[in-house]
Order: sequence, then structure tokens, then C-alpha cells
Amino acid sequence: MSDCCSAPGLLPFETALEKMLSSITPITETRELAIGDALHYVLAQDVLSPLNVPPHDNSAMDGYAFAADSLKDGRVLTLAGKSFAGAPFEGKCLPGQCIRIMTGAKMPADCDTVEMQENVEVTEAGIEFLKPRKPGDHVRNAGEDIKAGQKVLSAGHRLTAIDIGVLASLGLNAVKVYRQLNVALIATGDELKSPGQELTPGDIYESNSYVLAAMLKKLHVNVIDFGIIEDNYQLIKAAFVKADQQADAVISSGGVSVGEADYTKDVLDELGQIDFWKIAIKPGKPFAFGQLSNSIFFGLPGNPVSALVTAHQLAIPGLLKLQNAEAAKRISITATTATDLRKSPGRMDLQRGVLSVNEAGENIVTSTGAQGSGILSSLARANCYIVLPREQGRVAAGEQVTVQLFDQYLQ
Ligand code: AMP
Ligand code: MG
Repeated sequence: MSDCCSAPGLLPFETALEKMLSSITPITETRELAIGDALHYVLAQDVLSPLNVPPHDNSAMDGYAFAADSLKDGRVLTLAGKSFAGAPFEGKCLPGQCIRIMTGAKMPADCDTVEMQENVEVTEAGIEFLKPRKPGDHVRNAGEDIKAGQKVLSAGHRLTAIDIGVLASLGLNAVKVYRQLNVALIATGDELKSPGQELTPGDIYESNSYVLAAMLKKLHVNVIDFGIIEDNYQLIKAAFVKADQQADAVISSGGVSVGEADYTKDVLDELGQIDFWKIAIKPGKPFAFGQLSNSIFFGLPGNPVSALVTAHQLAIPGLLKLQNAEAAKRISITATTATDLRKSPGRMDLQRGVLSVNEAGENIVTSTGAQGSGILSSLARANCYIVLPREQGRVAAGEQVTVQLFDQYLQ
């Protein structure tokens, strides 16, 4: 039997990813930002709480605070004062007494329990408690949300809107973050025209840089768009030299295969230490990665689907490492395929699928149809990759497959 699974010279996807990640050194420059300016930056420090949250024991209800022991001898307590949020009761609450208290108000020192106002009756004799209560009922304890000194957020975490609120609630008005990355985009190809321009015979619209710029927004980087560069050695070289000077990472698409007009490879050989990989994934076989003088370089295939998938599977993890951000784990689940899936052994396939749940609660995935690497609309309809391992052959409807859900970068 012929060995189907070791197509010569093809690098397994995991090996390519590991090699790439291990040669990326994260940036070190940080800055201190006001929390109002820090959204989507990557934290450069662990954030420890400087205080207990809540800072004091307080009431979870509108009602009455008292010492639980006071109800041992009778059900009626006399009212001795009130504690409102921001205006605590500072006096003594003696045995047999209770304090009117509002939600969030500080617990009086002598009280350990709260009864909600619906469960008392206000009588001439005092406040009559209609139900038994355990000590501590309806009291939120100091530090029960966050203890002073506790780690609240970790270095490497990308700050969300919620996190900005958490920082404010801890009294922190500034935070240390990593600076933003500068990422240069270069599209190569004589046939490419920008959307809005007239197409002449043989032209197509350039889409890769638009997809990439949009994906990079989710990474909160500065995009430096070099636009479309003709297939001309000197022009490509000039663009790469300038991009390398200005950026932490340069991403190009097109020109990394070995067509006649593919000068990108020659330019890169001259300018840096670049590996040209043939990765055992479909779509997206040719992929270049390496080091220019000042920046790291990702060379994506030109085909729109291949460019997008390699950007998503390789360039994004690489950029996350460069910016010190923790990479969210991609979610894979098992589903039953509703359609036959064409596949030849030799490469790992990332086919495009639509995942849904049927009436029986089972995960069902349907192929989006033609899977050509130029068919961007097949990705647009999808919500997941159907991940078929390298050695896998065709799959029949009804079989189980692994599905990787599209994450935020593709939305
Ligand atoms: P290449 O790798 O340069 O040979 O390109 C492979 C295919 O992708 C060709 O059909 C190109 O026209 C197409 N292509 C290359 N770059 C882009 C781009 N930026 N946007 C859309 N299609 C592209
Ligand atoms: Mg080209």
C-alpha cells in the first residue's frame, strides 16, 4: 500500500505553527494609560486588588439589620437608627434593637443579620419579625467579591469594556499596557485593482488587504497599508524596505508561489531570513515566515481563501505572541456531517461548513459547497471549519467530523 500521508516536503501544520511561534520574540515596550484610553490594549502587569470589594459588610436587601441573638427572646425589636448607602449608622445597636437599612448600606458594628422589609410588620411596639433568620442572612461580606491583594487580571490579558469597569471599581485610574503593534500590509499583483476603480481586461479586485485590515482591527494594532504593488522587482523591494522600517510585522499576500511574476520570493531572499514553507494544509499550502531587519514577516498565498485561512491560523497566533497577548483557545467540537465531503489524503483540510443543532439536539454540519481556494463566498456563508486530518480520505454523510468554530477574528 502506498503511504498516503507523507506527501514529500510538506510541513505538518502543527510543526509550522510551533516553528513560527518559537522564533517570535514579544515586544517589551510598555506605557501607562488612563483606564478610559486602555480598551483593547494588552495588560503588561498583573492587576492586584488594592482593596476588598465590597470594602465593608453591607446589606443585600432593603430592610432591618440586627444581631441574630436579639430574636431569641422575642419577635419585636425597637428601632434605634438608620443606615443608608453613603450614610452609615455609627451608633450602638443594643440587644433588642434593630436598624433600618438599605441595600448596599454599611452593616452597623453590632449587627450580623438583615431581614427584608417584606417580612416585618411595623407595629406600635416596634418592628415585628415574622420569620426566623439565620445569622449572616442577607449580608454581603467585605471582600466576598474580591479580596485585597487578590489577582484580578493577568498580564497578557486584552482589556475589555467590562475590565475597564473592574479597574474603576478597584479605584485604579491608570494601567500598564504594551504599546500597539504597527503592522504593514502589502498586496502584490499586476492584475489587482482597488474596489471603486474600473477593471480592465484581466484584472480582478484586490480583497486580501481589506480582509486582513479588518481582522487586524480585532488585534488592536496600527495598520500601515502599502496598497497594491506591481509585480516589479524594484517596486516590491522598495515597498518591503519601507514597510520593514515602519512596522513590527509585515504581511504580504501573493507572489509566494513560484510563478514567473513572483518576485516577492527573490526580494525576501535578499532582505531577510525567510523560510518558504509548503504546509500540509488546504487551503493555503505556500506560506512564508521569517525575519526582516526590523520586523517579522508573514507571506500569505494570493488566493483569497488561502490568504484568509493562513492569516487566521498562523499570522494571528504569531501577532498575538508578538504583542504579548494570551491566545484564546479555539473551540473544536464533534458534529455529524450532513453532506459527503471530498478529500484526498496528504494535507489537513479546513473545509468551510455551517454548523447547526437539529431538533434532537445533535450538532450537524453542512459543507458550504465548492471549496476552491479562490471562492471567498464559500467562507462568507460558513460559521466553522470542518477539520479533516491529513491522512483522512473522503467522508460520507452521517459520519462524525471535528468542527472548529469561527472565532471573533472572522466575524
Ligand atoms: P499569486 O500567489 O500572486 O500567484 O496569486 C494567486 C491568486 O490569487 C491569483 O489568482 C491572484 O490574482 C489572486 N490574488 C493575489 N493577490 C490577491 C489579492 N490581494 N486580492 C485578491 N486576489 C488576489
Ligand atoms: Mg501574483
